[in-house]
Amino acid sequence: MTQFKPVHVIGGGLAGSEAAWQIAEAGVPVVLSEMRPHRMTDAHKTHGLAELVCSNSFRSDAWETNAVGLLHAEMRRMGSLILAAGDLHKLPAGGALAVDRDGFSGEVTERLAAHPLVTIKRGEVAGLPPADWDSVIVATGPLTSPALSEAVRALTGEGELAFFDAIAPVVHLDSIDESIAWRQSRYDKAGPGGTGADYLNCPMSKDEYEAFVDALLAGEKTSFKEWEASTPYFDGCLPVEVMAERGRDTLRFGPMKPVGLTDPRTGRRPYAVVQLRQDNAHGTLWNMVGFQTKLKHAEQVSVFRMIPGLGEAEFARLGGLHRNTFLNSPKLIDGVLRLKAEPRLRFAGQITGVEGYVESAAIGLLAGRFAAAERKGEALRTPPATTALGALVAHITGGHLLDEGTGSSSGSFQPMNINYGLLPPLEEDAPLAGEDGRRLKGKERGAEKKRVMSRRALRDLDGWIAEHAHPTSSSMTGLDPAIQGQAR
Ligand SMILES: Cc1cc2nc3c(=O)[nH]c(=O)nc-3n(C[C@H](O)[C@H](O)[C@H](O)COP(=O)(O)OP(=O)(O)OC[C@H]3O[C@@H](n4cnc5c(N)ncnc54)[C@H](O)[C@@H]3O)c2cc1C
Repeated sequence: MTQFKPVHVIGGGLAGSEAAWQIAEAGVPVVLSEMRPHRMTDAHKTHGLAELVCSNSFRSDAWETNAVGLLHAEMRRMGSLILAAGDLHKLPAGGALAVDRDGFSGEVTERLAAHPLVTIKRGEVAGLPPADWDSVIVATGPLTSPALSEAVRALTGEGELAFFDAIAPVVHLDSIDESIAWRQSRYDKAGPGGTGADYLNCPMSKDEYEAFVDALLAGEKTSFKEWEASTPYFDGCLPVEVMAERGRDTLRFGPMKPVGLTDPRTGRRPYAVVQLRQDNAHGTLWNMVGFQTKLKHAEQVSVFRMIPGLGEAEFARLGGLHRNTFLNSPKLIDGVLRLKAEPRLRFAGQITGVEGYVESAAIGLLAGRFAAAERKGEALRTPPATTALGALVAHITGGHLLDEGTGSSSGSFQPMNINYGLLPPLEEDAPLAGEDGRRLKGKERGAEKKRVMSRRALRDLDGWIAEHAHPTSSSMTGLDPAIQGQAR
């Protein structure tokens, strides 16, 4: 018998399953409530825990050159159940970690069911959890049941829980050609906290604008799923291609209006403009203002690279528009994932404003660790922001820029996959020479930068684990030893 009261986890998806595992591995009992099969979501098809609702890929496994690969490596070091089950059920997929979805979900379900400290309950938590659940992780995902999301909305306030995700593309600053794009705010207005040169502006001539509108109209679009089309939360975020359909000048009088801007190369106002606004506190990522879109991803890359200054753009995230339930986390959640207004509630997974299977599981992993440490009276510490895990927490709890004027992040905070732009940049003078001592340029330099950042991340995570984390318990043994030690 353990001396601890159980922690409750609501939602047995990617985040909830990982959170429950971490809590149990820390020696604290956990009750995991999953509503399926009694109540299904519009996307889940099975009763299994950690069901993958769409693709079967955890994306790249290349820890040195890909940020999600780095996140895999960090999670393996932290005894992740999701990564362990993924590694056991992986399928051939080049450099990606793709999994047999049934084998993977079955593995997660069986391991949790077999753990002596885990109790799995099937049934919807249809409102705020009872008052005697003094430590709860809400991991109910993008398709949180309406009864629970209504209760959370009542608690957090109108407007602080989004139901649609209108995503504008985000571009890595170092891929924007600043010999074409220039920094200026409309009419040079400084605004609160601004400098008068807060936007990057990409100018278009009449011919360039007309060609761009044609490409938007011709581009292949993704369609709404039936249940998304009937969700009544989708006003005021028209996709850019729908605006183009409404008239050839609609964009030029909307998000692409050039007023108050002067192209320093010509000394004149351009015909149309695409504006980018700083997206993260590091200033490494910039979003395309008003450019939410349902163009297919490959189309977005080719169409948006037609924009002068973005010819070589590298996208940290492409645009989209889909049903997604997520909190205005930078305002509502503290650094250890507790709801500030009711700290017995922690949030994890996609509902916190991360995007993707692996990212959701990563936040589940940390929420589980935090809840277990709190129960045991241990200090709660987030991994350093130089790690992918720490960078994700920083994104959802603090790394995002607040709106000018209002000081709020509501409306501008958008879910995000892990990417190198979320990690603090390297020192200016970091040595980035090749093995032969040659100074690196272009793509080679970019790749080396990622390698240096990835090594820094694992080194810092190892230091953090040595100081703070509990060792993974014996139930992780029996796995391929490479799983935990990989990427060292
Ligand atoms: C249609 C769709 C497709 C997606 N495709 C991909 C993709 O291809 N690749 C990718 O990386 N990401 C994808 N995502 C995004 C996201 O990564 C996944 O949704 C991921 O599963 C999120 O993990 P989670 O643990 O936060 O939520 P989920 O995995 O959805 O888990 C939430 C769980 O909570 C349960 N639940 C909900 N409400 C309650 C309640 N009140 N009481 C008890 N249980 C409840 C649900 O049944 C579910 O099992 C997709 C999302 C959607 C909606």
